[in-house]
Amino acid sequence: MIAEVIVDIAASETDKIFDYLCDDSVVVGSRVRAPFGGKTLPGFVMRIKATSDYPLEKLKKVQPCPDELPALNAECLALAEKLAARYRVPKALTLRLFLPSEMRTGKVRELTKNYAALAVDFAEMKFSKNAKNQLGAAEYLRDNGKSECAFLNNLFPGGVAALEKKGYVKITKEQILRDPYKNVESESVERTLTADQQRAVDTVNTDSRTVQLIHGVTGSGKTEIYLTLIAQQLKKGKTSIFLVPEISLTPQMLSQLRARFGRNAAILHSGLSAGERFDEWWRLRTGEAKIAIGARSAVFAPLENLGVIIIDEEHESSYASETSPRYNTFDVALLRAKRNACKLVLGSATPAVDTYKRAKEGEFSLIRLEKRINKRPLPEIIIADMRREVRRGNNSAFSGALKEEIEKCLAADKQAILFLNRRGYSQTVICKECGYVAKCQQCDVSLTYHRDENCLKCHYCGTKYNMLSACPECGGVKLSYAGTGTQRVAAELQKLYPAARILRMDNDTTSGKEGHYKILKAFGEHKADILVGTQMIAKGHDFPSVTLVGILDADMSLHFSDYRSGERTFQLLTQVAGRSGRAEEKGKVVLQTFDPENEVLRFATAYDYAGFYENEISLRAAMQFPPFSKIVRVLVTGEDDKKTIETLREIYVELEKLYTEQSEKFLFFNKMRAPIKRIQNKHRYQVLMRLSDTSVLPLIYDICANARNRDVVVAVEENPTNLS
Ligand code: ADP
Ligand code: ZN
Repeated sequence: MIAEVIVDIAASETDKIFDYLCDDSVVVGSRVRAPFGGKTLPGFVMRIKATSDYPLEKLKKVQPCPDELPALNAECLALAEKLAARYRVPKALTLRLFLPSEMRTGKVRELTKNYAALAVDFAEMKFSKNAKNQLGAAEYLRDNGKSECAFLNNLFPGGVAALEKKGYVKITKEQILRDPYKNVESESVERTLTADQQRAVDTVNTDSRTVQLIHGVTGSGKTEIYLTLIAQQLKKGKTSIFLVPEISLTPQMLSQLRARFGRNAAILHSGLSAGERFDEWWRLRTGEAKIAIGARSAVFAPLENLGVIIIDEEHESSYASETSPRYNTFDVALLRAKRNACKLVLGSATPAVDTYKRAKEGEFSLIRLEKRINKRPLPEIIIADMRREVRRGNNSAFSGALKEEIEKCLAADKQAILFLNRRGYSQTVICKECGYVAKCQQCDVSLTYHRDENCLKCHYCGTKYNMLSACPECGGVKLSYAGTGTQRVAAELQKLYPAARILRMDNDTTSGKEGHYKILKAFGEHKADILVGTQMIAKGHDFPSVTLVGILDADMSLHFSDYRSGERTFQLLTQVAGRSGRAEEKGKVVLQTFDPENEVLRFATAYDYAGFYENEISLRAAMQFPPFSKIVRVLVTGEDDKKTIETLREIYVELEKLYTEQSEKFLFFNKMRAPIKRIQNKHRYQVLMRLSDTSVLPLIYDICANARNRDVVVAVEENPTNLS
């Protein structure tokens, strides 16, 4: 027999299908090890046939991998081919999307697993106050007996390992045990749906359109709708994919999902080790697990017989991949939904303008949830005019109104969240004598001062620099710190309220696997009074005792030179405001701005999505911005400036031809340096286009694919969320 094999190398010149001899154990979708150019490389079987156009004696033989099932099912293979054609990338690259990394290195799945059991009586164990995960894992083992380590790590990261070190737990390697949850009916933590929720579920099930948009205010109970839809499909023996922005996979969410679906759910979150991901992936592939939950990459889950795909917080920019292939999660999900004849459910309190337009025009079904559960009112938003504060001589980060509300909140033993879209202590360090600004040596951006580490950091590449004692240009010692970051806010707050317990959450405090879980967990347990953070804290969290949210600088994202800045500001403010007053207590929001008359802010404070949308869509129409056009950026980057410019020129010449021939399809066409000229020592150039007619898009992809070479990376970005 002959196998057509794709060898797993991503260079475009090898994106060919090679014929190999194989035995009967090799089927379509199998992993194999293929001799290639003196090496043995992993490969995947695309087709099996009886004859080859090549002389048989010239063909080499592939080694099969002993998997219980071929790694790729028919749907995945078809999808990988489609995506490769759509984004003009090698199939080897799109196939990778469907496989956990362990699979690609040719690792064979182990048939034994680690199990943990208590070695000491639970009553004799001692735990320090902060050892929540140890305690959780120990309690679980006390109540359930011997359990799989990977499963426990998922719920209580690091707990088992720490228990083993103390001698409280014994870990043994054993043949895979029968699934501990197989016979357990999913636990009845189900809630009775409200009338609104029931109506939403019914519409999803009966409406004939594939895409169902649930536009529900924050706290309207969308999660419960998703879980009900998944449970219904599970009863029918069908599978589901549930996509969330990574940050939503909080400990509360994980245990809620585990309680509801037990081992039917495979949760693919970033806290898992490669081996654990591999196991979860296999459980999906073999059908043992029927629900894939995770961030955007879970859209490639190896499930068959899909009953529903859900994308929560559909407006989030994290659903667009920023590495090649630059797929859009919605597009992939839609392909899968159509193939499986199932529904694609999108949910958001602030849908993307593009999505909402398609729903309003009837292409998608539009389901509205206008009330919060139990009719809890949305928090009242107080606007603090920072111009007036400055005129009064208040130059601090806090307005009088905000201070007053913080004091009330602390006095009532409630919690507050303060939000600022800037990490670090101060944005820039400037020499007052000569105007020198400290910049990263590898990137063309200014450095941010971090006081706790007393260093300067580049937020693009992460490089740390020693703090300056004098200006390197003129030797002056008068250095000033401009712009306020989260660190500075936390420090100033502590000075104002010495007794308050303050937590900070941003990219600096959340490094490590469980960084943000720990902070959120501590805050959720009311171990702190105030949480200061970047937009990380804006999403999905449900903290019942938070009654105050402060938005310190509502204007920040309005000033980005991006057609979506209004949309993003509206989304951000709504999400942040939604964190306040989620339980019985009515919440308050103080929004600080230098521009109180701004329309976007006005719509946001009135919770008027419809008004915002009408305003925004007419602006976009007038300016011919997306969704009335498509922005395409070709980004050319490389370490060698000369070679990068050469490639850029090659592409530009071809694109310019296209532009001259079909200029009626272009609204804008220009080449330039990218706004940030250098990141991590790579020079960056771009050709920016705005298309009124996307029929030229495949040609643009072709031109870029042809110019690709070893030294220069060429990326095509469609409506990029980040134009730096
Ligand atoms: P959303 O995702 O729309 O912001 P959530 O799903 O977080 O809203 O729900 C808000 C709150 O209401 C949560 O605390 C949730 O547990 C609760 N809730 C949701 N549905 C119900 C229901 N049917 N009965 C009682 N409480 C519910
Ligand atoms: Zn840098």
